[in-house]
Order: sequence, then structure tokens, then C-alpha cells
Amino acid sequence: MYASGISPRRISEILNEENVPCPGQYAFEKLGHKGKPGDRRLWGQITIASMLKNIVYIGHMPQLMSTSISYKNHKRYKKDQSEWVVVHNTHPPIISQELWDRVREREKSVAQGRKTATGYTHPLSGFLYCADCGCKMKLNSVGNNKYAFNCGDHMRFGKTICFSHHIAAKTLEKIILDDILEMAQRIILDEKVIREEFIRHNAEVQEKSIKAAKKELQGKRNRIEELSRLMQLAYEDRLKGKMPEDICIGFIQKYSEEQKKLETEIAELEAKLTETENTIQSADDFIRNIKKYLEAPELTREMCYELIDRIIVGGLPKITGKEREIDIVYKVDIASVLRHKLNK
Ligand SMILES: [Zn+2]
Repeated sequence: MYASGISPRRISEILNEENVPCPGQYAFEKLGHKGKPGDRRLWGQITIASMLKNIVYIGHMPQLMSTSISYKNHKRYKKDQSEWVVVHNTHPPIISQELWDRVREREKSVAQGRKTATGYTHPLSGFLYCADCGCKMKLNSVGNNKYAFNCGDHMRFGKTICFSHHIAAKTLEKIILDDILEMAQRIILDEKVIREEFIRHNAEVQEKSIKAAKKELQGKRNRIEELSRLMQLAYEDRLKGKMPEDICIGFIQKYSEEQKKLETEIAELEAKLTETENTIQSADDFIRNIKKYLEAPELTREMCYELIDRIIVGGLPKITGKEREIDIVYKVDIASVLRHKLNK
């Protein structure tokens, strides 16, 4: 549920509404554990949040999670997760690695969304970016339960930083809902062809980016070798007395900093190259998700989580002098395949 965009608080409410026993209640019934007096046998959001992070559910057993300062002081301290000793696959998982990964992805998702003072989170909150300065769009109330979005930097710092990108929340919701509905309709009409074209298109794009990454990688590796040579030279010159000590140290520091930076960049590039993205799987997920919303009456936060990566909101025509652009970037770029087909 969390992976599809529902908050821990809402999950606890749903579980309570559906009378699913909470862990305390379950322990009481099955194992005869007595709870503390006054325990209310209901799910709470803190329980949900900690369960979402518990790797025991995917079959691993973490150990040495806490420590005491010394044998004289028995107070336990939580250790950082990086210090845990994790024994993998000690027992059969009750949730899949895939679902676990989706929960982590949702946590990382930029679109956590802010609540307003009255506790309202707009479906689009956290998904919108200003086309001109790149910062997030902020929700503001315009009275009567009506909302509008505007460039966050403009709202904070005024015109000198960025101009107004005001847009009524209802207008934006309609644009995005219409786009989703239209895409769903077209996918349903021609699902097989669109799926195949997407996979082919994607393979082409990937091939290009792999080529570019390999070239970049080679360039960086060459520079690292060059830097090693330069450091060696500086060191030799210093030994021969051709270079003052402080200058030599300065050079070596500068070179080794650059080398370190290059090494992290290389590691990132290598990770990108080895990342075997399962594009067919993601396209199928996306098609399945969007089909659910063929007749959606309104835009919901869950829809946004499942389908949208981000939305870039352009400025008003009276300021930019051109038509307003709203660029919807979907999680899977099927839109470009559809556009391509239209142009043919
Ligand atoms: Zn802006």
C-alpha cells in the first residue's frame, strides 16, 4: 500500500477499518502474550513505518543492531545501519524483494509532498517543477478550498529570482488527467503494437546512452593515468631540487583531489553501465497501471505516484511571449512512442 503512495497513517486507518489484528493483538491471541494495561488493540502509524523498514520480512536477520558503551554501562545504544551484521536468507521471506525495492523507491521519491497547515496534501504536490529556474512549485491556498501552484523561488524571493508561474490547481489537474485518460485510451486500442514499439525504441535509446557512457568512461580513465604521471614528475622535480617544496605539495594536492573526484565519477558510470534495467517489465507495469485509470473521474495522488515522474510547468504567455508549456514526464516514456506514431 505504501509503495502505491498511501501514507503510513492512512494504512493504519485502513487496517483498523478492516479489522486486521495488529501485532499486539495477534501475539495476545496466538501466543498468549499479555500486553501492558490500557493497550488499545489498534494499528498505529509508527508500527507501520517501522515494519516498512524491517528487513526480517524479506528473509534476512540483522544482528548487533545496538551496543552498550562499556560493560559497566548497560544502557543500549542504537547502532547505525551500516554497522549491523546482516545474515542473509535465514528464513523464507514473507514479502518479495521486488515489493521491498518499491517501498525504498517510494521513500526516495522526490514527491513526498508537503502538507498544508490544515493537513491537506494536493495530488500533485512534490511533482511540479518551474520550467525557468528548476525549483519546486509551491502550493498556496487562494481561499474557498481552492489552490494554486507557483514557482517556489518566486514565492520566497520575489521577481528578482524568478517570475510568477501561477497556475490554478484545478486547471493543472484537468490538463494532467486528460493527458492520462487520452494515453490510456490509445494504449487500450493498440496495446500490442505500442508495447513492441516502446521496447524497440527503448533499446535504441539505451544503446546510444551506453555508447556515450563508455566513451566518457574511457576519457576519465585516461585523465587518471595522466594525473598519476604528472604527480610522479612533480615528485621527481622536487627530489632534483627543481621545484620548491610548497609548490610541489600544492601540485600533488590538486592532482590527487582531481583523481579522487574522477574515481567517484568512474564508479557512478560503471554502475550505470552494469545496471540491467528490466525495461520490458517496467513497460508492462506501466501499461497495466495506466489501464486501471481509463475512466478515472479525478486525479489522485496514487495515480501520480504510479505514472508520473515529474511535471515541468512553463510560464504564462503574457510573460514569456509564447504558448504555455506543461511537460508531463511519465515514469515510462511511452508518450514519445505515441507521439512518434502520430507524426508518421
Ligand atoms: Zn521559477
